[in-house]
Amino acid sequence: MQTIGVALIDAVEPGVVAQLRPAVELAFARAVIEGPRVTLPRGVRDERRDQWRASLVLDALAAARPREYERLLGVTAVDLYRPERPFVFGDGDAARAVAVVSVARFAGAPDPDAFARLVASEAVHQLGHTYGLEHCREQHCVMRPSTSPEETVKRGLMFCDRHRAELARKLL
Ligand SMILES: [Zn+2]
Ligand SMILES: [Zn+2]
Repeated sequence: MQTIGVALIDAVEPGVVAQLRPAVELAFARAVIEGPRVTLPRGVRDERRDQWRASLVLDALAAARPREYERLLGVTAVDLYRPERPFVFGDGDAARAVAVVSVARFAGAPDPDAFARLVASEAVHQLGHTYGLEHCREQHCVMRPSTSPEETVKRGLMFCDRHRAELARKLL
């Protein structure tokens, strides 16, 4: 079976792998394996914003990706941004088969299950991008974009019918 590696970035808690594994394995029919621990180069952090640039995190993951993993998903506790956005929960790059999720803005989740659902939804969403899926307007599709934990909870963990069919073709 093809595998998706999860790279723990810097000091993120290893328990996060178990929290996102069930949803990711179900969504992509891939085994999720804890992969290399990745340390971000200093230049990835914007001192003025006190945030880390998502595209540079993807660069670091692409450089660290062992070839045996079909995809490498980084999980980080630092807050991410893109130049045109105040923050992002994650990012994904189909060309280089890497994605990243930040748990920084999920710290306020009311309990561990709620936290796990947020991380899992974001992981499936960003990995969806790495398989070429675009954003969705359906209320309950995991490919719907989100700018708040509330929106992430609402969209859930599952693909809409159209995205499920599209993904099935990509996974062949
Ligand atoms: Zn997206
Ligand atoms: Zn959809």
